[in-house]
Amino acid sequence: QVADSLYIINQFGQKYFEEKLFNSDEGQDIALSYLKERGFREEVLRKFQVGYSLQDSQSFVTTALNAQYNIELLVKSGLVAQRDGRSYDNYRGRIIFPVHNQSGKIIGFGARVIGKAERAPKYINTPENELYHKSKILYGSYQARQSIDKLDECLLVEGYTDVISLHQAGIENVVASGGTSLTPDQLRLIHKYTNNLTIIYDGDGAGVKAALRGLELALMEGLNVQLVLIPDNEDPDSYVNKVGAAAFQEFVKANKKEFIIFQLEVMLKDAGNDTNKKAAVVNQMAETISKLNKAEDFTKQQDYIRRCSELLRVEEDGFNNLVNKFI
Ligand code: ATP
Ligand code: MN
Ligand code: MN
Ligand code: MN
Repeated sequence: QVADSLYIINQFGQKYFEEKLFNSDEGQDIALSYLKERGFREEVLRKFQVGYSLQDSQSFVTTALNAQYNIELLVKSGLVAQRDGRSYDNYRGRIIFPVHNQSGKIIGFGARVIGKAERAPKYINTPENELYHKSKILYGSYQARQSIDKLDECLLVEGYTDVISLHQAGIENVVASGGTSLTPDQLRLIHKYTNNLTIIYDGDGAGVKAALRGLELALMEGLNVQLVLIPDNEDPDSYVNKVGAAAFQEFVKANKKEFIIFQLEVMLKDAGNDTNKKAAVVNQMAETISKLNKAEDFTKQQDYIRRCSELLRVEEDGFNNLVNKFI
């Protein structure tokens, strides 16, 4: 019943923070104005139950204690922290993004500083507890579920604000991994909804690396994985705000690439004219293809063997044998 109590505390916190964002002077002046400046409208903020935690370090904890909430549970929830025997609001002065589970209950929070993060970390998240398991979080899955069902596709982005901005642009089949590399648990969750995953990561080096790390896991999970990289130091949030909903959709459509082909291209470009490196690429690609879930994906595997051997300029039969060596 610790879990049940945490749900109730989280819900209490969410209501408190949402009220402060929209109805307090400080919330309106500091937080709501910042969010509006970034292009978020009230409707989408309400949909994601976004809130604001006042700068005063005692504001929430006092209210919660007065409402008879238990201090140990408040600390466990991450909403309250303690230092030197004193309790204070852990997320004070931050914008609050509640994280919902599949049924819409709040399991934790992400809390963002307003404006540029100077010294404090940009985001603080709920600590691991009975409800919040970082490796299983898919932010936005509750709000995305219907649209994923309808379109039979799930878009995966990095952050909270990417999910919310895409919703505002009418793209609702989107979830976020929360900046960490994809975990098997997250992929399993996605696979419960659909076979088709489109990863939309920031086009910087970190985004590319994060994407490649997720590849093998996703292939083993048996998902069809496509990838889009957002250009020029933008992320989906900033990019959709820059170019608009229609152009964003078009960009995704035009630049979607099958994950295996993407990996091949990145590695080939890296190898250049170096024959040793090129041989290593051939080996690596054979190994990657061997990771496809064979029972489910025999035709897909044959198709990749054909296309990759073409792109690598190696003989198809030989490449096929190489793939089989890894199985
Ligand atoms: P914003 O648009 O508000 O700047 P963002 O989502 O673009 O946020 P990124 O720096 O791109 O922020 O990080 C992507 C995601 O990684 C965040 O949404 C958050 O879930 C997670 N994250 C980023 N920084 C931290 C941090 N310091 N601690 C924990 N999680 C973080
Ligand atoms: Mn499947
Ligand atoms: Mn980002
Ligand atoms: Mn961003």
